[in-house]
Amino acid sequence: MEIVPGVHAIERLGVGRAYLYQEADRLTLIDTGVARSTDRIFAAIESIGRKPDDLRQIVITHDHHDHIGSLADVVERTDAQVLVHALDAPVVRGEQPPPTPSTTGLMRLLNPLLARIARPIAPTRVDRELADGDEIDLDGGARVVHVPGHTAGSIALYLPKRRLLFAGDAAVNAFGLGPPSGPLGIFNEDQAQARQSFRKLAELDFDVACFGHGAPLDREASLAFRRRAERLS
Ligand SMILES: [Zn+2]
Ligand SMILES: [Zn+2]
Repeated sequence: MEIVPGVHAIERLGVGRAYLYQEADRLTLIDTGVARSTDRIFAAIESIGRKPDDLRQIVITHDHHDHIGSLADVVERTDAQVLVHALDAPVVRGEQPPPTPSTTGLMRLLNPLLARIARPIAPTRVDRELADGDEIDLDGGARVVHVPGHTAGSIALYLPKRRLLFAGDAAVNAFGLGPPSGPLGIFNEDQAQARQSFRKLAELDFDVACFGHGAPLDREASLAFRRRAERLS
């Protein structure tokens, strides 16, 4: 699905969404879905008339399995550069185990996301460790916004010229717009910090917001963020 010209959501990955950003000379992938999503990612690339070799960089919003599950496989088949925040990079490289949410046995049983997200991840090299305020070479410049709380190294990508935000899981549009809550909220490493990071995103100006979970907002998105931020405790 093309959200705005050149920005495609890769859906039906099982859990969550990845995004393909199309430029004349290359493609950028934002997140990679759960394991075994590679065929869907490559099908999305081919559906816009491009080749997997056009994929030059993969920006990872955070180290959860539903975002990096197919990273190793895509990297192996494309040589794309991998960009991850420095605090989530050790999990991507396999130097640290993936975070496991603290929750009761019953919640584990009831939450199908848990089983998928807590599974082991194939280690992958990281080519560039990101920090808040870094600029990524994407469509004239995308700014890295560090939004910790969901994970320590969660990032959003902000393209001011296009008035576009990729929120990762720092904001979701599932169970309503806001910081991750409900079945997604149990993955937050720090709830207060997650709310603070949502407020940080609400201070930016953008029309379109793309989420790891939930349908994109295609107009007046930052207004919706601000309204929600006002109601956060
Ligand atoms: Zn997540
Ligand atoms: Zn997610």
